[in-house]
Amino acid sequence: MNIGKKTEYSSILEEFGISKIKKELSRIGTDHLFFRRGIVFAHRDFDKILNRIEQKKEWAIISGRGPSNDLTYGHLILFELIKYLQEKYQCQFFLPFSDDEKYVFRKIDSLKSAYNLALKNAIDIFALGFQPNQVHAYISSSTPRIAYLALTFSVNLTYNSIKSALGLIGDENIGTPYYSCIQAAHILHPTTDYDLPVVVPIGLDQDVFMRLTRDVARKRRITLPASLYIKYLKGLDGSPMSSSNPENCIFLRDGSQIVKKKILRAFTGGRATIKEQRELGANPEICTIYDFFEKLFIKDDKELADICRRCKNGEIICGLDCKPKLISLIHEFQKQFEQRKKGIIKNLHRYFDHEIDMSEINVKSDSK
Ligand code: SF4
Repeated sequence: MNIGKKTEYSSILEEFGISKIKKELSRIGTDHLFFRRGIVFAHRDFDKILNRIEQKKEWAIISGRGPSNDLTYGHLILFELIKYLQEKYQCQFFLPFSDDEKYVFRKIDSLKSAYNLALKNAIDIFALGFQPNQVHAYISSSTPRIAYLALTFSVNLTYNSIKSALGLIGDENIGTPYYSCIQAAHILHPTTDYDLPVVVPIGLDQDVFMRLTRDVARKRRITLPASLYIKYLKGLDGSPMSSSNPENCIFLRDGSQIVKKKILRAFTGGRATIKEQRELGANPEICTIYDFFEKLFIKDDKELADICRRCKNGEIICGLDCKPKLISLIHEFQKQFEQRKKGIIKNLHRYFDHEIDMSEINVKSDSK
C-alpha cells in the first residue's frame, strides 16, 4: 500500500473508518512531541479509551513484535509511544513475540532462531525503560492460551475473508491465513482474560489485521480493540525504515562506526554543492536526517524550528552541521542504551509470563 501522499492517507482513513486525531488532542495533551507534531496522527475508538481513562477504569496496550531481525531506530517511535502512554496512564503492556508469524511467512528458518531473536529484541525493548510489573511479554508459540484462543476464533473468520484482506493467491502455506487467528488471539487476549479493553499502536499498512480482529470481536461480542496510527521513520534512502532492508536502516545494535558510516551516506534534502546550498537553501521535508530530528531526537520545538529555518535559508549544510549532530546524538543514546541493557539481561525473566531459556543468548553486549 502506497501511503506516501496526503490525499491517499485521507481516502484510506475515510474508507476504513479511521479518524484523524484532532478533538482528542485536548484530552490527550500535547506534552509529548508525538502528539504535538502529528506523528501519532489517527485513531479508531481511542476516544473510548479516553472515556475509560476519565472514568478511572483500566485498559491495556498490546503491540506485537515479529522477531526476524534486530530492532531499528524506526521501532523506537512505537516503543517510546507505548512507554509514554504507560507512564502517563499506568496501564499494562502486553507484548507477544510472534515467532510463529515470522516462521509461517518464511522470514526465519526455524522457530528456535525466532525464539532467540525474540529474547534479544526483548532486551532492547525493555532497556528503553519499561517496568517488569507493568509488562506481560510472551513468545507466541510457547503460550498454549494463545493457541487455544486462536482455535476458538478460527470459526469466526472465513478463508475467503482472510484471502481477500491479505491479498493471498492460494499457493501460500496453510499457516499464512491461519496466522490471522493467532493475531486476533494476541490482540483480544487482554480483554478476554483480564477484562481489559485494548489499544493497538500500529502503522496504517498493518490495519488489515485490526479489521480482521474487530470482525472476530464483533461476532464474539468482545469489546472492540482500539488503535492508534503512527507515522514511520524515514529510512536512509527516504523510504520507510525497514529492518528487512539493512542498507536502509540503522539498527539499535549497530556499532558507533557503522552508525557514522550509514548517516554519512544518508539521503538529505541538500543541494549538489555547498555553494549552491548556501545560495538556494535545502529542503528539510524530504530529508532523512531532519526526520530523525523531528520524530526522535530534537525534543525542543524552538530548536527544531530553528534547524528548519536555517536549512531552508542555506545557513546550515548537511555534511557539516546536521549529519555530525545526528551522529553525536545517536552515539550519546547508544552509550546510555548499552548501560541499561546490562541491567535488563539479568532480569529479563521478570518481564515474561512464562519461563524463558537464555542458554543461547550472549549475555555480553553484542553490538556490531
Ligand atoms: S541542512 Fe540539515 S535539515 Fe537541511 S537538508 Fe541538509 S541535513 Fe537535512
